[in-house]
Order: sequence, then structure tokens, then C-alpha cells
Amino acid sequence: MLNSVKELNGYHQHEPEYRNGHANGKANGKTNGAVAHHDETKEAKQAIETAVRTILTNVGEDPDREGLIGTPDRIARMYDEILAGYTTDPVKLVNGALFDVEYDDPVIVKEIEYFSMCEHHMLPFFGRAHIAYIPSDKVIGLSKIPRIVEMFARRLQVQERMTRQIAEMIDEVLKPQGVAVVVEGSHMCSMMRGVKKEHPRMMTSYMIGKYKEDKELRREFMDQLRK
Ligand SMILES: [Zn+2]
Repeated sequence: MLNSVKELNGYHQHEPEYRNGHANGKANGKTNGAVAHHDETKEAKQAIETAVRTILTNVGEDPDREGLIGTPDRIARMYDEILAGYTTDPVKLVNGALFDVEYDDPVIVKEIEYFSMCEHHMLPFFGRAHIAYIPSDKVIGLSKIPRIVEMFARRLQVQERMTRQIAEMIDEVLKPQGVAVVVEGSHMCSMMRGVKKEHPRMMTSYMIGKYKEDKELRREFMDQLRK
């Protein structure tokens, strides 16, 4: 079952090339083991540092001045953290956290804070995700839902796709009667640009199963979010 989760989420497809050992055509993708992986990671980090230096120079900065000298290194290490979702293993993530229950009222987890990066501008977007599902025979440990959100948030994203991916993963893992995901997001790329000082939050939702079919259930969930 969980193998299909991997495919569903494009876990392999979305892995950045350097993770697969194809970084700028130089890495030896066929070697195995921790040493090779370590080299690839190091090579990728250096490539990011070089790229950041290039950006700094070309926006009119001096990349060697005191305040900037460590910036390429900091950014490379930061990407490792804020884009960690590419290398999070979804199978491990849900491992051992599924429980059999006889319960078929909605389980609602709301106000899950997330931080993501818009893939169009590589600027942050952030906000809250709200999730509901109606179990069939399984529930997932409460702490795992925010981890699922985090796995998809820590990638280059568009909010609509992130919303769908969260819903589809919960659907795939739990085979519930229905899933509802609502995400609110403030996007730095629209907030920082232009002169308007109003910054509407973007709302996206994705419904599966009973939540898609049953208007009343959807309304109940939306009412919960207003409380
Ligand atoms: Zn953007």
C-alpha cells in the first residue's frame, strides 16, 4: 500500500536531480553507499553556493564584503532545511502510526501552521492548513497529520497542488470515507511586490469521497473552521 503512496506523491519524480547523482553531469550516479551520497550532497551544496554568489554579484553586490561572505553557505544550508520535503520518506513518516478503530465521525485537525516556498518566485508562502477525514476503519496518530503537511510544504510548491497532495496522501494511507483539506496562504511574492497594502489570503480546498459528495458535511467542516 505504502509504495503506491510514494508514487502518488511523485516522491521519486520530484527528487531533485542532484539527489539522484546526476548533478551537472559530473556526479557518478552509479556508485552506491553513504560515501557517494555524501559527495553528491557536498557537490550540490557547492553548486548552490556558486549560484548564490553569482546572484549577489549580478544584483550589484560585493559577495566578498563582510556581511555577505557567509551568505552562500547559509543559504545552501537553509535550503537543506526548508526544502527537506524532497527527501522525507512518506513510508517512514506514517510508519507505525495507523490504528484500527470503530469510529466514523469526522476527525478534524485544524490550525496546522506551515511554511512553504512558491515555485514561481522562490519566495515564502505560509499560513494554516485544516484537515478533516471520516475514518473507514483506521485513524492516524494525531502528530502525523502536521508532519504530512510539513513534508509537502517543504518543497517548491503552488498552494493548489500542496492542498491536493495532502488530501491524496491521507486518502491513500487511510482509505477513509472522505477527506477535506482547506489551506490558507499569504504569499510573499504578492505581498512584497506592487504598491497595494492589502494582502488577501489565498484559500484553496480539496475534497475527496463523502466530503466531495455531501454538501452538508462540507458545510459542517467549514463551520468548524470559523470557531
Ligand atoms: Zn510566487
